[in-house]
Amino acid sequence: MEGSADTTWLVFDFDNTLIDENSDYFVFERLGSDILDTLRDRTRSVGFTQAVDECLAILWNRGISVHDLRKELGNISVNAKLAGALLQTRSVVSERCMIVSDANTEYIRTILKRNGLDDGVFERIVTNPSFLESDRLRVKPFDNNNGTCRRCPENLCKGRVIEDFREKRNELSASAAVKAAGLEPWIDRGLNQLPTDTAIAESVELDIQ
Ligand SMILES: [Zn+2]
Repeated sequence: MEGSADTTWLVFDFDNTLIDENSDYFVFERLGSDILDTLRDRTRSVGFTQAVDECLAILWNRGISVHDLRKELGNISVNAKLAGALLQTRSVVSERCMIVSDANTEYIRTILKRNGLDDGVFERIVTNPSFLESDRLRVKPFDNNNGTCRRCPENLCKGRVIEDFREKRNELSASAAVKAAGLEPWIDRGLNQLPTDTAIAESVELDIQ
């Protein structure tokens, strides 16, 4: 759903913005703080998201399941006033909310649900795709940067996400024919239809409807 030409999109970062934590670090601080050094070391070699994936494997090998991860993530609260304001946007026809984040789908979905923000508040989440592999949480880097934007993580240029989205909106509103032809798979992929195996696209953009 791109909304009409009059729709105002409110775009939010997630870590240290919607929540007062960095969800990636939070998980390791709570469940294996000794892994943080490995996370920092591996980030220099393979990039942050790939390093998170590797460090999640360490947790998994210690017997920490995705359920344990979700339980810890459930301790992260969204500020009550902010949550209230976000809920009110649902009744404003001309406003839609979007998250653009270098966290991952599992963390964001879990925290939004814990805070009652999983029901129609955010129509779109652009982040690193996560999936389960034999109950082990895997994370793959979003891939739209190739290191060309040095202000952003090397896997995810948030500015480019928004520019691409604006371009797509313009295309869709310019021509009904283009609109029909432009319905790529990601547009209709709902939050509850997250892929759960390794057959996953390189990047994920979700419409939550
Ligand atoms: Zn950028």
